[in-house]
Amino acid sequence: MKGNSIITNFSYICGHKSAICTMKNDSSVLLIFTGGTISMGENPATQSLSPLDSAQVLSFIPELKMLRVNISSVSFNPLIDSSDIQPESWVRIAEIIRDHYDAFDGFVVLHGTDTMAYSSSALSFMLENLTKPVIFTGSQLPVGVLRSDAKENLITAIELAAAKNERHEAMVPEVCLFFEDKLMRGNRATKRNTEAFNAFASFNYPELAKTGVHIKYASAYIHHETEKKPFAIQTQLDTNIAILKIFPGITEATVNAILSIAGLRAVVLESFGAGNAPRVEWLFELLKQATNKGIVIVNVTQCRSGSVEMGRYETSINLQKAGIVSGFDMTLEATVTKLMYLLGQTENSEEIRRQMSTPLRGEVTID
Ligand code: ASP
Repeated sequence: MKGNSIITNFSYICGHKSAICTMKNDSSVLLIFTGGTISMGENPATQSLSPLDSAQVLSFIPELKMLRVNISSVSFNPLIDSSDIQPESWVRIAEIIRDHYDAFDGFVVLHGTDTMAYSSSALSFMLENLTKPVIFTGSQLPVGVLRSDAKENLITAIELAAAKNERHEAMVPEVCLFFEDKLMRGNRATKRNTEAFNAFASFNYPELAKTGVHIKYASAYIHHETEKKPFAIQTQLDTNIAILKIFPGITEATVNAILSIAGLRAVVLESFGAGNAPRVEWLFELLKQATNKGIVIVNVTQCRSGSVEMGRYETSINLQKAGIVSGFDMTLEATVTKLMYLLGQTENSEEIRRQMSTPLRGEVTID
């Protein structure tokens, strides 16, 4: 990220100071602007979309002053399309949250939709002992155009980030992704639609809240930290990862080229169905050689829903024998970012394999 972040109080930016200050504001929320469609508007001269600054974005949503929430904002400079997001951007978000953790009750990250599920997954691992909500949201249409979904998504995300129970504890003290009418665990969400407002889904874990006339929380599925450890961030991420997607006809040369990448430490194997791959000897040998060299290979399914179950079919027995670990029902986004997080913490492949099959932040279901 180039340039400095500026932190500004929304009541000042939008000139609604008195309206906000006369209300009893129970919670305070920090908006972290990273970019994406939600932060764009139509340039009347050119009719093309270009990034707005945070003050301009907020000026399109005067309704925010009706919320009983103190809102401040901090912005990436420049704002970025989320296809340009890099692990350094995740570190920057984590550092902003750490630097302002005590001053706010919750955080809303405004982010492009393309890689939002990667970012919410990454942050779920990087933020340790989290007891406050961190809600990612964005929109399919820019905030400055008619019919935009930006307004509803942002207002509700702020409400969710500010919500507390009768004991004054956060309702959803997790990294989450809110879109359209669903609050999802951040490391369970995936972008499923380029067109619909209902762009994200959590295929393998129930939604944490559903919003309609009322906000209905699914309390049984929301994680609350029970150990009282201090909040911390983990910023060491190792990106020496490859994704190997199996398809009928994949060649030995292709697999060999991927597994021979210099410095490669982990591979996400996207397999068929419940974790299956062709029973060809060369594939088994190449995968076995890779695991013997210490490369961690994690088996996830190409299907949206359901789990890997190695050993259920003969077509996955070889994968087990080659030392591949199951990713069970993890999303691709969660698997990639969990590997980056774990590789950043230890050189020990066995430990990484063990942790890949262990839920760290509710990202995986192990029966
Ligand atoms: N390309 C945009 C982004 O991800 C799309 C969006 O925000 O919906 O930043």
